[in-house]
Amino acid sequence: MNSAPIEHVDVVVVGGGPGGSTVATLLAKSGHRVVQLEKETFPRYQIGESLLPSTIHGVCRLLGVDKKIKDAGFMPKRGGSFRWGKNPVPWNFLFAISPEFAGDGSYAYQVERMKFDQILLEHSAESGVDVRQNCRVNGTEQDEHGRVVGVRYVDADRTEHHVRATFVVDASGNTTRLSKHAGGERVYSDFFQNVAIFGYFEGGKRLPAPDSGNILCAAFDEGWIWYIPLTDELTSVGAVISKSKADRLDAQESTLRGYIDRCAIVKDMLSDATRVTEGTYGEIRLRKDYSYANTKFWGNGMVLVGDAACFIDPVFSTGVHLATYSGVLAARSINSVLSGAMTEERAFDEFEGRYRREYAVFYEFLSAFYDMEQSEDSYFWKARRVTNLDRTDLAAFVSLVAGGYSGENALTDADQVVEKFTASTKALTEATDRTGGMDTDSGQRMGHMFSAPVVRDVMEEMNALQARAATGSNGVEPPLLEGGLVPSLDGLAWTEPASVTA
Ligand code: FAD
Repeated sequence: MNSAPIEHVDVVVVGGGPGGSTVATLLAKSGHRVVQLEKETFPRYQIGESLLPSTIHGVCRLLGVDKKIKDAGFMPKRGGSFRWGKNPVPWNFLFAISPEFAGDGSYAYQVERMKFDQILLEHSAESGVDVRQNCRVNGTEQDEHGRVVGVRYVDADRTEHHVRATFVVDASGNTTRLSKHAGGERVYSDFFQNVAIFGYFEGGKRLPAPDSGNILCAAFDEGWIWYIPLTDELTSVGAVISKSKADRLDAQESTLRGYIDRCAIVKDMLSDATRVTEGTYGEIRLRKDYSYANTKFWGNGMVLVGDAACFIDPVFSTGVHLATYSGVLAARSINSVLSGAMTEERAFDEFEGRYRREYAVFYEFLSAFYDMEQSEDSYFWKARRVTNLDRTDLAAFVSLVAGGYSGENALTDADQVVEKFTASTKALTEATDRTGGMDTDSGQRMGHMFSAPVVRDVMEEMNALQARAATGSNGVEPPLLEGGLVPSLDGLAWTEPASVTA
């Protein structure tokens, strides 16, 4: 193997997924020298096709890639349709029910990740990032104090390279081998012990307009199935079941078919469909052990972004949101340190505090969401009833991932919150009446969930991100964390609250 001379840059980003491209682009936009290393040659396959509005209207706008995404012709997604809860009638969750998402921001997209990720990676290169594909990172380099000061990688010709940098961002996804260098370890969730088996179909039915682009999530006795319309023809279908079944699972069509046959609504949607058996979408795939969080998101010169840091569960399409949101937070912190504006501790405590908060509120939200399916005679659903869980375990995990989350409720104006969520719940009820598709029981439970403080917290930060991107700059925002920082006016760095003027 040959060896090339050592290079020096400001930041090395490992991984060309949405998390890596977000952080790399925002750093390059701030004038830093950034090398982004990706082991595959794009387009490459990835799961995670159903997106949330904050990624499209918040992060993509901040990156300046929103027009390219709009022009790509992805399937518009107004929300989710659920056969969930006791009642067999499906109901809708529309992004527009939240007043903040009304109008232009009230949709997201279902994306073929091969296309979406490639647009983001190409945009990263166009923004000034030195993007190198077919370059696999196989280790970090450390100084005499144990600080990570660079990486080693091998290119397509098997030449080994050494790149030195002030910061190394690990955005290499769930299979990362680098994350431990931040000083922590991966802790798996006791609650989300699930396995997913998935494939692709052509000719599946569509929900009636205007919800034809919605993700359909349908519960059945052994778990639930996602049904994601990617194009008019192509549908992504996956079953999420208990991990205890994993050893009996083969990545075979018959296994996936077996679950589909037990789920009446999806079986019907696929009654005229054919499974894709060739090309990238021709494979039946399995994923397990995907619900975890690292105990440290930064340290020793390394910053973890996206799945390299944490992931919860596919049910509410949060993965790409957490990856791109953490990319924004990481870029702000790195920019703030590289400009000499503040210490590493100050900048990265903000990164980790906000990231853990987002993860923790989604974690609670998704746990409650699983709790809605109260099937009495199913092992899968009984095991996922929050009320049946050992609350101590759940609370311990949530507080582990939450970091300083607990003190933050004090920051919120209670009257405003009540007003805002009364409006949300009213809009939800009206939407229910309009579509006529949401059953009373599930609708009430959903309305109840939406008035819970945990959901307020989920929506709050996503809304702030979207509002900031929509207006170019959002002026002064209050700190999200007690004693914390606020985004600079251009949204690319942190600043002390008192130093921002409207
Ligand atoms: P990735 O997208 O995994 O990108 C990491 C990149 O790093 C890859 O391109 C990889 O090739 C590269 N890489 C890895 N190792 C190296 C190395 N050593 N050197 C160089 N490059 C390297 N999320 C949603 O938002 N919506 C959904 O509907 C959804 N459904 C899901 C269903 C399942 C079953 C699962 C398991 C996850 C789902 N997700 C979903 C989550 C989503 O897939 C991830 O959260 C998202 O892809 C994370 O983005 P990322 O940029 O962190 O990592």
